[in-house]
Amino acid sequence: MFIGGEWTRGSAGRTFEIVNPANNETIARAYEGNLDDVNRAVAAARDAFDNGPWRHMTGKERGEILRRTAEMIRADATKFAFLEAADVGKTFHRTLGYSIPQAIDGFEYHAARAREIEGKVRAVPERNFFNYRTWEPMGVVAEILPWNGPFMMACQKVSAILAAGNTVVIKPAQDGSLSNLELAKLFAKAGFPPGVVNIVAGPGRALGARLVEHPDVNMVSLTGGTETGKQVIRQSADTVKKVALELGGKNPHIVFEDADLPQAVQWAIWAAYADQGQICVSGSRLLLHKPIYEEFLDLFVNKVSALKIGDTMSETTDVGPVITRRHEQSILDYIAIGKQEGAVTILGGNKVTSAPFDRGNFIEPTIFTGVTPDMRIAQEEIFGPVVTVTMFNDDAEAVRIANGVKYGLAGGIWTQDIDRALRTASQLQAGQIYLNSYYSPAIVDSPAEGHKESGIGGTGVHKYMQEKTVFVKLKLD
Ligand code: NAD
Repeated sequence: MFIGGEWTRGSAGRTFEIVNPANNETIARAYEGNLDDVNRAVAAARDAFDNGPWRHMTGKERGEILRRTAEMIRADATKFAFLEAADVGKTFHRTLGYSIPQAIDGFEYHAARAREIEGKVRAVPERNFFNYRTWEPMGVVAEILPWNGPFMMACQKVSAILAAGNTVVIKPAQDGSLSNLELAKLFAKAGFPPGVVNIVAGPGRALGARLVEHPDVNMVSLTGGTETGKQVIRQSADTVKKVALELGGKNPHIVFEDADLPQAVQWAIWAAYADQGQICVSGSRLLLHKPIYEEFLDLFVNKVSALKIGDTMSETTDVGPVITRRHEQSILDYIAIGKQEGAVTILGGNKVTSAPFDRGNFIEPTIFTGVTPDMRIAQEEIFGPVVTVTMFNDDAEAVRIANGVKYGLAGGIWTQDIDRALRTASQLQAGQIYLNSYYSPAIVDSPAEGHKESGIGGTGVHKYMQEKTVFVKLKLD
C-alpha cells in the first residue's frame, strides 16, 4: 500500500491473493489493509491537504504533475493492459486499445482543466455590493472503486479529484487491485507531495465503510453497485458528507424497424458482450420492434454464436472469463431464474466446461427470448454475458419498457428517422444515450450522471469541489 508517500505492508502485514479469473491461479499477493491503515491513510491525506503545498499550487503546477503521470502511463501502457487482463479478465487488446488510452486521456484532460477553474463576479449595484464566487476543493476525498475496469476508472476519477486540489485515499475493489497498486508506483515518481495520493487495498465492506464514516474524509466518491451506494448514503449520514455515486444499470438497447440492421447487430454484440457484459453501461436489454424482430434475431444469433471464447491475451478472443467463481455462480443463478420465469435460452446458458476453460470462470454468451418486462432477468443487473430480448409494438411501448426499471444509466437507440431518434432520446430516463452506435468516444470530457437509482452527485472537476460566495460592501459615497 502507498500511504503518506511511503510504501507500507500495512499494520498487520497480512496478504490476500490476486487471482487470474481465466484459470483461478494466484498470480500475486498484495498487502491487505485494515482499519488502522485506513486511519493512517486518511491522516496522511488530511495533513497533506491542511498543511501541504498541493491545494496552494497553481492549476498549471498541478496540471504539470498530472501530465507527467499521463506520460508515464503511456510509456507503461502494455504493462498496465497486461496486469488488467491477468487480474480482472479483460481482453488484453481491448484494454490496450480502449481502456488505457481513456485512462491517459483522463490525466491529460484534467491536467488542462486544472487551469480553468474559474469563479464568477456578480454586481449588486443597488446596495453598493458585489459578490464573487469561487470553487474550492472539498478536502480529503475517498475514491472507492469497482473491479470492472479498475485502471481506467481510477485514472479518470483520481485525475479529476487531484486537478481540483483535493487529496485522495483510493480504495480499489479487492478483486481489481493489481493495476491500481502498480499505478501507485507512478504516483510515487510523478512528483505529488507526500500524502496527496494514498492507496489502501483490502476487503471492501470494512475498509470502505470506515472511509465513508471517517470524520476527516470530506467527500466519498463511489463507483459500484446500487445496493452499495445505498449503504454509503446511510453510512455518510452522521458526518453529512458530500457523496457522489456512479452505480449499476440495466440498460435498454432499442432497435426500431427503420434501423440499419447490420450495424445495429454489430453494436448490439459489443454492447452486450464486451468485457463479458461486466460494464455498467452494457446494453443488456435488447428491445426489438415487431417488424424487424425475426430478421434482427436471426442475424444476431448467427453472429453471437460465432464469438470466440478464449485466452485474454489472444487477439482473436471475443469473450473472456467473468471475475470470480462467486460471480460466475450468480450469473448462472440468474440464467436458472430466467428459465424458471418462462424465458427461453436460444443460445448459450451454460458454464464452459471444456479444457482449459473449465479451470476459469467462462460462461457462454447467452440470449434469452420471450422475456417480459416484469421478469427478474429484465429488471435486475446480471453483469454477465447475458442479454434479454423483448419485442415491442410501437414507440410508446418501447419507451415504457425501457424506462420500467429502477435504473437510469444508459440506453441505445437505432433508427434512421431523426425526429424519432431525438424524441426517444429525450424520453429515455438515463444519463447517457447512444444514437446509432453504442460507444462513447472521449468519455472523460462528456461526463454523464446516472439517473434514478444509477447515481447522484454531478460530473466533471466541479463534482469534487464546493462553491463559496463572498459578499463585498463598497464605500462608494
Ligand atoms: P460493489 O458495490 O460490490 O463494490 C464497489 C466498491 O465498494 C468496492 O471497492 C467495494 O470494496 C466497496 N464497498 C463494498 N461495500 C462497501 C460499503 N459498505 N461501504 C463502502 N464501500 C464498500 O461493486 P463491484 O461488484 O465492485 O462493481 C460492479 C458494480 O459497479 C456494478 O453494479 C456496476 O454497474 C457498477 N459500476 C458502475 C459504473 C458507473 O459509472 N455507473 C461503472 C463501473 C461499475
